Amino acid sequence: MYDSAAFDESPVVAVAHGDGIGPEIMAAALQVLDAAGARMTVRTLEIGEKLYRQGHTAGISPEGWETLRTARAFFKAPITTPQGGGMKSLNVTIRKTLGLYANVRPCSAYSPYVATKHPDMDLVIIRENEEDLYAGIEHRQTDEVYQCLKLVSRPGCERIVRYAFEYARANRRTKVSCFTKDNIMKLTDGLFHQVFNEIGEEYPDIEQDHWIVDIGTARLATRPQDFDVIVTTNLYGDIISDVAAEIAGSVGLAGSANIGRQVSMFEAIHGSAPLIAGQDIANPSGLLLAGVMMMNHLGQSDVAERVHNAWLRTVEDGVHTGDVGVEDGSGEAVGTRAFAQAVIDRLGQEPRKLTPVRYDSNASLEIAPEPRREPADRQTVGVDLFVQWRGGADDLAARLKGIEGGPLELKMITNRGVKVWPGGIPETFCTDHWRCRFMNGGGSIDLNEIVALSSRAVTAGIEFIKTEHLCTFDGEAGFTLGQGQ
Ligand code: NAD
Repeated sequence: MYDSAAFDESPVVAVAHGDGIGPEIMAAALQVLDAAGARMTVRTLEIGEKLYRQGHTAGISPEGWETLRTARAFFKAPITTPQGGGMKSLNVTIRKTLGLYANVRPCSAYSPYVATKHPDMDLVIIRENEEDLYAGIEHRQTDEVYQCLKLVSRPGCERIVRYAFEYARANRRTKVSCFTKDNIMKLTDGLFHQVFNEIGEEYPDIEQDHWIVDIGTARLATRPQDFDVIVTTNLYGDIISDVAAEIAGSVGLAGSANIGRQVSMFEAIHGSAPLIAGQDIANPSGLLLAGVMMMNHLGQSDVAERVHNAWLRTVEDGVHTGDVGVEDGSGEAVGTRAFAQAVIDRLGQEPRKLTPVRYDSNASLEIAPEPRREPADRQTVGVDLFVQWRGGADDLAARLKGIEGGPLELKMITNRGVKVWPGGIPETFCTDHWRCRFMNGGGSIDLNEIVALSSRAVTAGIEFIKTEHLCTFDGEAGFTLGQGQ
């Protein structure tokens, strides 16, 4: 672990004022941070609607990228994403381009000041941000079947899991829960779970458990107080972090961080709410709490603590914007500017009923690059040949038997993962997309055998659409069995 931010007295922060309510809530958030003594050098950049209209398909210009690359943090107001027209999501582009590997989203209840069914809820979701199904590698393979590749890497798992444990330690949290679906995705989600167990051993002071994501999410929705820090893969994290923010009663109050090695991005979780723009009624709290996370990340935990406690006190005093439901209906609804002023007026004060926050000095976390492992002994032992075929499994098997050759024998055919040959049953619905497994009786094969098999398939008029090699790594199978195999 190392902490470079603590030595940077006035780090460069790139600020984008965004679209819709963005400029109003950003002005409010910056005003509060400034009044609290935030030490930062602000560089403004333009992103969003205007840039999309100028023809920048990701909503950011080359100069904007330069500003981001030289900043320590990116404080971003929401933007309006144009529908259709080949425009790309700015957030996804920024996350991937700048390597923002961890999405951190605290979800807390502020009962009775904000209506919620779960007054004791106080958890943080740490979502892997770069891998999984979000690689965007999709193909239509046959008339009927489309696929999306789920890519999970060991360094990616190690980075996010270590970040979660370090985050827990730095923020005095006592438990980390891992959510996966490794009962079904044994290799990809299995790796995430395995890395969680391995790295968890280095943190004996932190309680740890694992949940299958479906029952874990159900438990999260009914007993969120059972969770403290949750670490999970990209897609599950995307879904459960919205569930968690919603049941906390505070979608408009939640901030999030996207942590990277060089630059990190901080924003509210809500959008640009164009219908209420320019009316001084938007709630600046989500962005302000993202600003609190940013100050912590920059090593200015004194500022983070001052702002967060003043904000809690403001909420507790019943001062709120019109979007927030207050359980007993008391308190005063104010505009964006007045809310920001109310927080500024309370700087230096702490909440009396809600729990005051305490941030450690130097809570900024940077995870040292994970060591790369020595390559394993990789042996190819067979191949899955994927074909398009409109007939039945037995007819396909008969044709494939005709292209067997060298060490490769047809062992199994599956359709959407279910074994249909040998020994299939007529009830299994089959599409036109078949996975045909050819293996060697034992030992490894030459890659030319796979090329030769593919070539014989083409000559025999079999429409083969792709191959996946079957390999062992240090003797361990790097592939799963078919369902029913
Ligand atoms: P939204 O979050 O902007 O609004 C949803 C609802 O919540 C609306 O009723 C809105 O008035 C209300 N709301 C949101 N933030 C509020 C606040 N701070 N104070 C008071 N009320 C608030 O979601 P949407 O309407 O689906 O999206 C609007 C635009 O925002 C779209 O173009 C979308 O693509 C974009 N968006 C951007 C981001 C981002 O930049 N990170 C995130 C989500 C959506």
